[in-house]
Amino acid sequence: VGGHPKPQNGPMKIAGVKRIIAIGSGKGGVGKSTVSSNLAVALAKQGRKVGLLDADIYGPSQPRMMGIQKRPSSPDGKTIIPLQSHGVTLMSIGFMLDPDKAVVWRGPMLMGALQQMLGQVQWGELDILLVDLPPGTGDVQLTLCQKTELSGAILVSTPQDVALLDARKALDMFGSLKTPVLGMIENMSTHICSNCGHEEHIFGHGGVAAEAEKLGVPLLGALPIDLETRLAGDAGTPIAAGTGPMAEAYGRIAEGLIK
Ligand code: ADP
Repeated sequence: VGGHPKPQNGPMKIAGVKRIIAIGSGKGGVGKSTVSSNLAVALAKQGRKVGLLDADIYGPSQPRMMGIQKRPSSPDGKTIIPLQSHGVTLMSIGFMLDPDKAVVWRGPMLMGALQQMLGQVQWGELDILLVDLPPGTGDVQLTLCQKTELSGAILVSTPQDVALLDARKALDMFGSLKTPVLGMIENMSTHICSNCGHEEHIFGHGGVAAEAEKLGVPLLGALPIDLETRLAGDAGTPIAAGTGPMAEAYGRIAEGLIK
């Protein structure tokens, strides 16, 4: 990663967008997209103007999670008008694709799609634009970090060792790209039995907190395994849009982010 040159014309700003924050993970399936949609909704509920860019080109989840699937319009044939859902301005490559077809693209096409979503979408005035990255440390992450003026990145991980191993690699990548890591979020940190109330640490306990401390990165929050969170995501209304302990937990992470 260290050998990749910075583009000569410098990182791109998006007019009207105050802060761009990337949300990444080492592994897939740790809840990065779930956290992205819920954080976006929580920020919007706090009165922020929020955008969410689903840059998970190979597996765009936001149309499903944010409950909207239609093709955005482009009245002038050049710029794209993003969609609105749960108070969030939303763009996803998934709006342009058949949801049941696999994306088999080579690098340059991928980069073209990403550049288009960043540069040609009329994001309008935004306090914060969250970017839901694909998992891992590939081309999309590299391009985004090098070509866009990011305020920083957030890393989502589950607490077990195999996930943390990859989270460390992602942290290392952001470090070599000089993208500040704003903090880590531990997802699926604990499970409380809905039947008996017994708490179990299915993926181990406190792994992300310990890792964050070791690396000198803030822990922005810890979220339990929660059936309602999964159901809400599948139903297209993020849990943060409602009330209850999970919505409050996301509210606290959102507050910490804006401080
Ligand atoms: P990623 O973006 O990292 O691949 P997703 O956000 O798509 O992960 O989450 C993978 C699956 O796990 C989804 O079905 C999602 O609803 C579920 N999930 C994510 N976080 C939680 C959680 N805290 N509790 C229960 N299910 C979760």
